[in-house]
Amino acid sequence: MDFADMKNKMLEEQIRGKGIKDEFVLAAMSKVPRHRFVEESLQEQAYNDYPLPIFGGQTISQPYMVALMTECLQLKGGEKVLEVGTGSGYQAAILAEIADKVYSIERDPHLARAACELLNELNYVNVIIKVGDGTLGWREFAPFDGIIVTAGSPVVPQPLQEQLRDGGRLVVPVGSSSFQNLMCIERKGSKLKSQEVCGCTFVPLIGNHGWKQE
Ligand code: SAM
Repeated sequence: MDFADMKNKMLEEQIRGKGIKDEFVLAAMSKVPRHRFVEESLQEQAYNDYPLPIFGGQTISQPYMVALMTECLQLKGGEKVLEVGTGSGYQAAILAEIADKVYSIERDPHLARAACELLNELNYVNVIIKVGDGTLGWREFAPFDGIIVTAGSPVVPQPLQEQLRDGGRLVVPVGSSSFQNLMCIERKGSKLKSQEVCGCTFVPLIGNHGWKQE
């Protein structure tokens, strides 16, 4: 089986098959070459139904989780989105297929550089990456139509709530260091309406409004 066949199988069995219906998300997942976002020895596993290790003890999330979190944002095209936790850059590429501009923050400079180089090579010119503490958001470009946090947090970081546009959605795993609930939060004027989507397990969000570094 080649990578294109593996991607199609992933789409049918793990994405469509597990209930993802959003056509924007399905189209994005069918385009992005996930095997390019993992090291060569793991490429054969890139379309399997689980997360994979990347540099520095971090992970590229399970394909279904990437699709589910993207679906929660309800993007239709033309949006400005903030991602916290660039990691491999795969989720940023999925967002970049739908949104107008993607701002992504990664605390590990090595991961940020590698993701930046790969996304440039794959011609994702609408992704801007910076090294920093994503729990503080990115005030310069706020407010955002969508904010996605791809690491587990003890609380919903306050700056991210503040940087969400009216009608915008924030998706964030919230809980303990070993288990979180995926929360989808929608801003309606000054009110935030929040909904639990499912249980999940992410690597920790380390920063000012997340877990403190040991
Ligand atoms: N979205 C990534 C992808 O598609 O490969 C997966 C991200 S991985 C599960 C979580 C990432 O969050 C790690 O790369 C980690 O270094 C990063 N991270 C943790 N705390 C952070 C923070 N405060 N600001 C920015 N990045 C953070």
